[in-house]
Amino acid sequence: MQIKNYINGEFIAPVSGEWIDNYNPSNGEVYGKIPNSDKADVEQAVLAAEKAFTNWSATTLDYRSNILKNISDLILENLPELAEVESKDNGKPISLAKEIDIPRAASNFQFFANAITQFSSEAHESVGLHAVNFTLREPVGVVGCISPWNLPLYLFTWKIAPAIAAGNCVVAKPSEVTPATAFLLSKICEKAGLPKGVLNIVHGLGSTTGQAIVSHPKIKAISFTGGTKTGARIAKIAAPMFKKLSLELGGKNPNIVFADCNYDKMLATTVRSSFANQGQICLCGSRIFVEENIYEKFKSDFIDKVAQLKIGHPSKNDTNIGALVSKEHLEKVKSYIDLAQEEGGKLLFGGKRVEVDNYENGYYLQPTIIEVSTNQCRLNQEEIFGPIVTIMPFKTDDDALALANDTKYGLSATLWTNNLNRTMQFSKQLKTGIVWVNTWMLRDLRTPFGGQKESGVGREGGFEALRFFTEPKNICIKYD
Ligand code: NAD
Repeated sequence: MQIKNYINGEFIAPVSGEWIDNYNPSNGEVYGKIPNSDKADVEQAVLAAEKAFTNWSATTLDYRSNILKNISDLILENLPELAEVESKDNGKPISLAKEIDIPRAASNFQFFANAITQFSSEAHESVGLHAVNFTLREPVGVVGCISPWNLPLYLFTWKIAPAIAAGNCVVAKPSEVTPATAFLLSKICEKAGLPKGVLNIVHGLGSTTGQAIVSHPKIKAISFTGGTKTGARIAKIAAPMFKKLSLELGGKNPNIVFADCNYDKMLATTVRSSFANQGQICLCGSRIFVEENIYEKFKSDFIDKVAQLKIGHPSKNDTNIGALVSKEHLEKVKSYIDLAQEEGGKLLFGGKRVEVDNYENGYYLQPTIIEVSTNQCRLNQEEIFGPIVTIMPFKTDDDALALANDTKYGLSATLWTNNLNRTMQFSKQLKTGIVWVNTWMLRDLRTPFGGQKESGVGREGGFEALRFFTEPKNICIKYD
């Protein structure tokens, strides 16, 4: 697939004339090229966005809402193709792309098409002062959206939909590793009637294209999802320019299992929260802590269940575990398996590269379970972002809470218990942006999403996203 930038409604080659290879994770072969964009391409995109802003920000909410609905409908109409391309580009099982990623991308547009019509100004009467106050929510202007490779179209649209719904014009960059569905989205947006310049998609590397977006003085807000180190780099550039920043970063999420939980439901969900998308979801529960009286039973049942997962070609319907996204990422993830041995971890299952369908160069790795005896090891402190989980027993509620919070990250936590007091105590004391109790990754799009500590700054989702993509302005009117 020859991917081009989408700027001012045109599909164009990069100014430099340079292209980057795009690899297929299932066989390690090059299957496409993407523009190696730089400052010059970002400049064109910003100019187009700036020009489109005057008209787009003045459109009615109904007009914008209808275009967002059209985009949502077209994503659903093109679901089979989008899912196939997403799976090929990323290595994720086709069933996941079909059932979760692409439908959720459509839901993002559908949700914000409705949400923007309900996002109303606040008004306050200043009683006794003869004044009324109301707050206007004005679009920020030209905004930058930068997304990662793990849920490519889903996370890309999670930013773009609220940004344009709120009246902004966007310069967006998908991950260079998974650019394909963003390219197809640009075609869909054009067909849906989105005026030219409202959404501009510039492809390229983080260090050049991404950095040019972050550094551009006319881009007033940056919504970024990706790694914590990249988030810190972005903040360093953006802060002195006083840009609005939303940073959705890494995680090292605890999955805390108490003996009083619904065991079967917990076990099935824990397999999913450990290895869905090859463990490449920021919300995966990569540290599993189990109450000691059920620890041995859990260990044996968990290994049995994980052994049943089918590693296979991403395009096959019965594949549970596809390929990791890139060779570099596979090497990084594998290095933690060696590290586990150095740190005294015990390999309970997996740990090996796998050849699938004679593709010895595919980036396949077995789901891997490692038993650790301490939380103070790199395996439990660093984000691996692959199909590796650790398990460890705990004795008391206090121990479990201390273990769960003992990390620099604070994205999400999952708790398995049927005890109401325990549920409330953990919910209040876990230092994370999201706490799931007896479930995992259940998302209601109205709820705030984001992390504490080094997992991020700010929240997206629901009205939080619309707040981020608007500037509040207080109007105070005095009367006699
Ligand atoms: P990454 O930080 O390497 O890249 C993310 C995006 O930023 C890519 O588009 C990349 O090109 C761009 N980028 C890289 N360097 C940049 C720079 N200096 N300036 C501007 N842009 C730059 O992350 P990744 O490897 O693509 O994704 C994996 C990470 O994303 C994991 O840490 C994961 O936890 C995190 N993630 C977080 C969430 C969340 O909601 N909190 C969701 C998904 C993924």
